[in-house]
Amino acid sequence: MQNQIAQVFKDKFGGCGTFYTSAGRINLIGEHTDYNGGFVLPGAIDKVIMAEIRAIGGDKVRVYSLDIDEYVEFGLGEDDAPDEQWARYIFGVCREIIKRGYKVEGFDAVFAGNVPLGAGLSSSAALESCFAFALNDIFNAGRIPAFELAFIGQSTEHNYCGVNCGIMDQFASVFGRKGNLMRLDCRSLEYEYFPFHPEGYRLVLLDSRVKHELKDSPYNRRRESCERVARRLGVETLRDASMEALDAVKSDLSDEEYRRARYVIGEKQRVLDVCDALGRGDYETVGRKMYETHDGLSHDYEVSCEEIDFLNNIARRCGVTGSRIMGGGFGGCTINLVRNDAYDSFIDTARREYHTRYGIEPTVYDVVISDGARKL
Ligand code: ADP
Ligand code: MG
Repeated sequence: MQNQIAQVFKDKFGGCGTFYTSAGRINLIGEHTDYNGGFVLPGAIDKVIMAEIRAIGGDKVRVYSLDIDEYVEFGLGEDDAPDEQWARYIFGVCREIIKRGYKVEGFDAVFAGNVPLGAGLSSSAALESCFAFALNDIFNAGRIPAFELAFIGQSTEHNYCGVNCGIMDQFASVFGRKGNLMRLDCRSLEYEYFPFHPEGYRLVLLDSRVKHELKDSPYNRRRESCERVARRLGVETLRDASMEALDAVKSDLSDEEYRRARYVIGEKQRVLDVCDALGRGDYETVGRKMYETHDGLSHDYEVSCEEIDFLNNIARRCGVTGSRIMGGGFGGCTINLVRNDAYDSFIDTARREYHTRYGIEPTVYDVVISDGARKL
């Protein structure tokens, strides 16, 4: 990828620039916990965005997207973002950096990537954090704090792309470190690295290739249920609630509210349990917790779907160590922790049975926990 970018940069702009990269991410466990003030456990992966960039002075930005084969120019002072979606991310990052009082001047860039788009691996965060990191290095001597780089990406999604996302994706691609997952406390934004060296296991995602669009935003309704239960318990978010406290008010809650809260409170503990297990190198416990999360998301939180449950069941039957739906729900990927000796038969079975049932094969993404944003 680097050679190809370098060739195109030379052809389009002449000479060469500096290479930067950032990564997509997975989240091992901790789902629907962010807006409940809880924990997530993401890691950057070996699927990246890579850019070659050179400052040219002035206020004109010239960028070529190798994968989409489009070229865009914009002025840093222009009000209107480009029409091309991919260029809006770059325009937004520039503007958000300037808005915070840091510097961006004109530059040339060529970029490419291999984070699958829209598969739940956050290719957009990889793109934002690659450019945020690069522009910090080139124009600000690295003075923008790392967390600010993540916020710049998040604000880009909010203000230029209409995506009202949390901070996890950008956090993971900025802070990612090879062989480490990061437990992020979504309330305090404190974080801690946990070594992830699953020797004898592989991490693999199966993309169901379905995304069910549900009418009345199920996401907002989940949020509201959680807020109602938190109010009933007299806590700010369910982060501060215990299972005992929940059980004590069970008769005041609808069955649905009770189950939603039971999932969230259980999930907070599961993230902590997984971190303990990682400390012991106990990947069997990690896997068991992933299945528990899946069951909670499927039955209590009700954000799974038939296709994803189908893939999860195949994982169980094939002796996969851990498997769960990853992401907001109603489709997308399962994330699977698989022993090497179970891998081939799991993938073969999933491809065959899913195809027989739904007429398509799941897309398979092997991932390795890798470094996040950096200069090459
Ligand atoms: P994801 O879940 O992968 O983040 P999004 O819809 O949020 O999905 O972001 C995908 C968008 O990010 C693409 O439509 C495109 O605009 C941009 N993008 C990601 N990767 C690339 C790439 N390699 N080249 C050009 N644009 C990219
Ligand atoms: Mg995205």
